[in-house]
Amino acid sequence: MDLSQILLDWYQQNQRDLPWRRTNDPYAIWLSEVILQQTRVDQGMPYWFHFMEAFPTATDLANADEQEVLRLWQGLGYYSRARNLQAAAKVIRDEYHGIFPNQYGQIRSLKGIGDYTAAAIGSIAFDLPHAVVDGNVYRFLSRLFAISTPIDSTIGKKEFSELANELLDKNNPGIFNQALMEFGAMQCKPSNPDCSICPFMQHCQSYTSNSVSEYPVKSKKTKTRNRYFNFLILSDEKNTIIQKREAKDIWQGLYQFPLIESENKNHSTIDLSNADVAQHLKGSSYNMVKASTVVKHILSHQIIYAKFWWIKLENIPSLDANVYIAIPWSRLGDFGMPQLIVKYLEGED
Ligand code: SF4
Repeated sequence: MDLSQILLDWYQQNQRDLPWRRTNDPYAIWLSEVILQQTRVDQGMPYWFHFMEAFPTATDLANADEQEVLRLWQGLGYYSRARNLQAAAKVIRDEYHGIFPNQYGQIRSLKGIGDYTAAAIGSIAFDLPHAVVDGNVYRFLSRLFAISTPIDSTIGKKEFSELANELLDKNNPGIFNQALMEFGAMQCKPSNPDCSICPFMQHCQSYTSNSVSEYPVKSKKTKTRNRYFNFLILSDEKNTIIQKREAKDIWQGLYQFPLIESENKNHSTIDLSNADVAQHLKGSSYNMVKASTVVKHILSHQIIYAKFWWIKLENIPSLDANVYIAIPWSRLGDFGMPQLIVKYLEGED
């Protein structure tokens, strides 16, 4: 079987017309790869256009205000990706004079760029002979060769990476890699792959042994953690209070309303004495106006159950300026906030 030829023929006829496939600009390709890491193409494409328009080069991204970057990222989740993008862009600006490095080792050493992304950028933009192995590739190769080594084990990662590098068409590494990923995404799909019209049908070991659904094999189940957030919307007639999330946790660098996280579940009353912000409220008069119903927000390894507590203040008290900011409601959109909060506020309009 000439895997490469079959794959490239299929790709020529079936590839999607995506804007980052019409360029060799490594910056544009990098951006698309990072945006699409945890995001579907139709959801990620508008973000790619917005970023390319706001920051057409790595230097533009490096020079941008962090809040502006996070605000544009809003809704994509995994905000560390946006922070890493900007950190890497600064290295490109400062150490490579704004020109994207063209050696695999240099690309791989940029913040947020792992084996997969380095291989994708290196092969597509610079024809470097490194195979990509993403979820689509794991699935396709495990089914094609009926490989039962768990794809999430160290040994599995090594085995699939070696196999993909062996199969790689060294004359066309960029096109081959894109074809391999596209085949997994469009043809050898997670559920209901179109085996009856697959050009590999006769060679596919899982298909011929009627065991397609058994691949890919995974060893671990990802544990999901439940968290219970109580956001305090403390406001007077014009202003409200927000704070930046500084800890190494979800949403680092984004802004939120002051938060009380509880251990077990969201309660029907809230004990303000647990809130750091409450010490600033001493002596001020405030009224609990209403509490929202519980809003469920699903992240990849966490489920957030959030409740919003609306507390009316007569006046915004003086606050610890290192932690809290009082802003007019009209300026809330200037601050990057988790999608959970943005969506809730939209529903309140
Ligand atoms: S025959 Fe089915 S399982 Fe095998 S490669 Fe084709 S689509 Fe995937």
